[in-house]
Amino acid sequence: MAKCVNCGKERPQYVQDFLIISRSSTGGFGGMRETTERLSGAERHVVCKTCLLKKVTKNALWMMVFITVAAFLGSVFMWGDDVYHNTEPFIVLSILLGIVAGISAEVAGMFSRKRRAKQIRNFVTERNEKSDIDKIYVSVGEKLYRTEQAFLTSGVDFTTGIGSRLYSELIKTGVWKDYVAAALSQTDGETIAIPEGEHKALLTECVQELLRLYRQTPGGFLTDSAAAMPVRTVGKKLDEAGGFELMRQAHGIFAASSPGMGLARNLEMVWDGIGGWRG
Ligand SMILES: [Zn+2]
Repeated sequence: MAKCVNCGKERPQYVQDFLIISRSSTGGFGGMRETTERLSGAERHVVCKTCLLKKVTKNALWMMVFITVAAFLGSVFMWGDDVYHNTEPFIVLSILLGIVAGISAEVAGMFSRKRRAKQIRNFVTERNEKSDIDKIYVSVGEKLYRTEQAFLTSGVDFTTGIGSRLYSELIKTGVWKDYVAAALSQTDGETIAIPEGEHKALLTECVQELLRLYRQTPGGFLTDSAAAMPVRTVGKKLDEAGGFELMRQAHGIFAASSPGMGLARNLEMVWDGIGGWRG
């Protein structure tokens, strides 16, 4: 089972596929600043029920407070004197409105596929914030967007005209599915050579997890950042099971699996201080 993008635990999850757009800019300072955006693959992410519920509830509570205050201020604005002389019913009414809004937000957040796609996207982008690479996540799914307008206003701000092209060439035609399928088959077909030994299963699991984490953050992790925690957790697990030697083995296999430029070095640094590891 895949792991939750937020807490890393294996629990029942919601799945969301994304097309990945990488954005890069050249120029600036006097010259014309030119931004290019191009399609660079697809990713699948999952979030567990607990994490989604927490996030949705937090949003719903804010919505409740906001609507309560807005409703009360609105009534003061509209019926100023009446509210001043007879405040209580207005307060009660405002709170009731707030509660209704909060419950609606909660229900919509858990059951609307579109809202859920947006939340999962938030989880993923929060997690990748620290990476240098400017990656834009475009949620895709069966009948997620009814029109081009709905797609273009769904929360992703494209700098270039790529949005319209994406819609007409990939979203509307369903070709996005091929991109997702291709990306998934790439990760499934990955084989890593793990030496025989008592820790083979653990090594396999840990290296796969490291590769997965780094695939999501191809720019590497900042040491000690929250995003690096799952990477450190893997290191600790290895250290507990087999000490420095097992960590060294896992690092070697990770490096040999060509994770990407500089990532083996990044792993060394992120693991600094775990057991006998000095990066
Ligand atoms: Zn979770």
